[in-house]
Amino acid sequence: TSSDIDRYFDALIRDIPDFPKPGVLFKDITPLLADHDAFTATVQALAAAGRDESGATVVDKVIGMEARGFILAAPVALALGVGFVPVRKAGKLPSATYAVSYELEYAQATLEMHTDALEAGDRVLLVDDVLATGGTAAATQKLVGYAGATVQALAVLMELSFLHGREVLGQTPLLALRTL
Ligand code: AMP
Repeated sequence: TSSDIDRYFDALIRDIPDFPKPGVLFKDITPLLADHDAFTATVQALAAAGRDESGATVVDKVIGMEARGFILAAPVALALGVGFVPVRKAGKLPSATYAVSYELEYAQATLEMHTDALEAGDRVLLVDDVLATGGTAAATQKLVGYAGATVQALAVLMELSFLHGREVLGQTPLLALRTL
């Protein structure tokens, strides 16, 4: 239930100030991942974004964004009975890829996805731990679009609403288990 999730998040997600650089309050989910009951409840709650009201799965694939997205998206895919697709940082995927570059605060980043990872028409659920500026999610949406597939929803543990990431998602529904 959502009150269980609130309890788990309060107890098992810790704030690390000035990591990885000054001014960032890093949300560390490793204590939550280490707790079987909390991890299970979190995965089930995220998986709801890939189901309709009757509980039927309405997505064909689940995408996780490197690196913490992998940890969450893989069990969500199994819970929904579908396959998992990784979106990775540049140079990590071995076969042919689509690539999207986007601006970070002081740098550029590139995300890639295998060109044969999705089929045209696939409905995809994106999963990550934190939605901050939305740059990662927006780039991933473009990768999905290059494959002719569509993003059904984005599911995250935490939305940092003061960074307005929701605004760069367009019409894509967002499930945030917690909004900060
Ligand atoms: P963004 O592209 O700005 O939405 O950033 C999202 C990515 O950066 C996600 O993959 C997060 O894992 C990570 N991230 C951003 N801000 C934080 C934070 N305060 N704590 C933990 N991870 C973060």
